[in-house]
Order: sequence, then structure tokens, then C-alpha cells
Amino acid sequence: MLNIKIERTASPKTKPDYSKLGFGKYFTDHMFLMNYSTEKGWHDARIVPYGPLPLDPSSMVFHYAQELFEGLKAYRKADGKIQLFRPMKNIERMNATCDRLCVPQIPAEDVLQAIKAVVEADKDWVPYDEGTSLYIRPFIIATDPMLGVHPSHTYIFAIILSPVGSYYAAGINPVKIFVEREYVRCVKGGTGRAKAGGNYAASLIGQKRAEDMGCAQVLWLDGVERKYIDEVGAMNVFFVIDGTVITPELTDGNILPGVTRASCVELLKKWGVPVEERKLSIDEVMEAHANGKLDEAFGSGTAAVISPIGELYDGDTKMVINNNEIGPVAKRLYDAITGIQWGKTEDIMGWIEKID
Ligand SMILES: *Cc1c(COP(=O)(O)O)cnc(C)c1O
Repeated sequence: MLNIKIERTASPKTKPDYSKLGFGKYFTDHMFLMNYSTEKGWHDARIVPYGPLPLDPSSMVFHYAQELFEGLKAYRKADGKIQLFRPMKNIERMNATCDRLCVPQIPAEDVLQAIKAVVEADKDWVPYDEGTSLYIRPFIIATDPMLGVHPSHTYIFAIILSPVGSYYAAGINPVKIFVEREYVRCVKGGTGRAKAGGNYAASLIGQKRAEDMGCAQVLWLDGVERKYIDEVGAMNVFFVIDGTVITPELTDGNILPGVTRASCVELLKKWGVPVEERKLSIDEVMEAHANGKLDEAFGSGTAAVISPIGELYDGDTKMVINNNEIGPVAKRLYDAITGIQWGKTEDIMGWIEKID
């Protein structure tokens, strides 16, 4: 149990126009901070006014990217109450990322307490409009002021909050995806399974190439054989081939274990829809498309929940999937997950953590 000191801001900000939130542009009045040192462990848990962090320019995070993060949301129900979706999954993943990056873990129940406390402190920032939510961004940075390459001895754990708009304000439109054959996001034995900021730096070039092709995201292939499908942008990916839902398996450690991905797999199993977690090559997808058996493709992640893929661009080849429309499996998953998140349907899976 953390002893969290709370210092409230003397000058609350004016709230943004909740109908024009977009993603990650506005931040609330407060943030959670906690420090780590070898002598004291994690200590000095506090909620303070949102603002800049004073950091020595030699802080390790600036040079060697010893940084990790998480992303989850708080949802406001029709009755005004606020809830979280499977926060313990994010917290367990955060601690697994800590292990990979040599960052000291934080007890899971302390992280949950911190998330709940800071959301509670800024609860009037959780928007009411349909499809909107409060995005929660926990992160840890290495702060030792020195340039040697080894794990830091000091860290800051922070949680910031951002009210975000409906991802699908203009309806669910399938996206175009660029198959990246030159660059890779990660390799076996690398940091692909960790939510590390450095992975995103490495992915920017592929994202840029995708945008140059008029695509929204990159389809990443495995870094060893350049053959098997890993992920799509910052989302996990699903393909429906001849009635079976297939998503790449997590066994090689090069795929981020998404909470939305796990939720999709669990729901499909509950519904009795055939679902397979296995290696899936880009050739198998192309062949299925050529034979008219590629029923659907979609990405999954906290931001969009489900993002249907309407077109795949691979060099000069262009594949249109399901007439560029959202398919029945994607739609059913989207409705089921968002229904539970906003409390519109009963939480039959036990995924909800109430805040107030
Ligand atoms: C965060 C993330 C996802 C999606 O995970 P969710 O827990 O479902 O939000 C997928 N891929 C990458 C690379 C990610 O960083």
C-alpha cells in the first residue's frame, strides 16, 4: 500500500472542447510521480500539478533510451461512474517490460493504487461523450546523470492522463496497410515483446514509408526470415481465412502481447469461433486472397480497439479485403469489447475494475 501525498493545483486548466479531442493532445491538471533509488527502493509516491520534469541533460534515458511505457483507458459509464478495462494485464506487462530493460519492478497492487488515485484526482477530466475516454500513460525513465552504458540506479515512474476523442468519430473506415519488406521492427531475442519507447524510434522509418505510399500503417514481417507476420503498426493483427481466425503466436518474443489481442482470443473461444495462434506467413495470406478465402483482416489495440484492414499494399500488388468494409468478426469483437468497456453490456468476462 503506497502512502500517496496529494498536492492539488492552485490554477486548474480550462477544459478542452470535448467534441474535438483527438488523441494525446490535452493533459489533465495532475500527474503521479514516484522515485527509485538503490537505497530507498520505490519511494515518495505523490500526485502533483501537471508540469515539466527537471532532468539533468546527462540523464541516461536521453542517451540510451532506458524507458518503457503502458497505455490503458478509463471509461465513463452512462450513470457517470468511471471504470478501467483489465488494468492488471497492463501492470503485469509493465513489470515484464521492466525485467527486459533491467528496470526494477513495482508491486502490481501499488501501480493499480497509483492509477486509481490519479484518475480519481482528475475525475472531472473523464469525458462524457459517446466513444470518448481518459487515456492513461504510465512510464518509467532512467535518471542517473552519467554516460556509461549500464542499467541506471535511479528512476522516475510517472502517470499522465489525456482525455481522448472517439477513434471513429466519422465511422469505422477500413485502413490501407503497407507491407514492409526492407525494415524490421524487432528480431528474435530483441525487445519486441516489451513496450519500450526505443521500439517506436526504430519503427518510424517504416511508418514514414507507409505514409508516403498513402497507407495508414505498416505490416511488419519477422526480422529473421522476413516471411511471417508480426504486427500492424502499434497493433496486433488478425486474419480470417476460410472461417478460421488466425493471429500470430507470441512464442518468439517478437510480438507485443496486447490486452486487446488477448481479449479477442478469449471472446472468440467463448463464442466457439475457430481461432488459432500460430505462425502465419505473408504468402499464406496472399494465397488465401487469390483463392477468395481471405474473409477479413483487422488490427487490435487500446486506442482503436479494432481497426479493419481494407487494403494491403505489397510492392506493386494491391489486395482489397472484404470489399473495403468492416467484416462480421471484426464488428462482433468491436461491439462486445466496447460494450463492456463503457458498461453498456454486462461484464460477463470479469474484465472491469471500478474506480468510484
Ligand atoms: C501497445 C501495443 C499493442 C497493443 O496492445 P494493447 O494492450 O491491446 O493496447 C500492439 N503492438 C504494439 C507494438 C504495442 O506497442
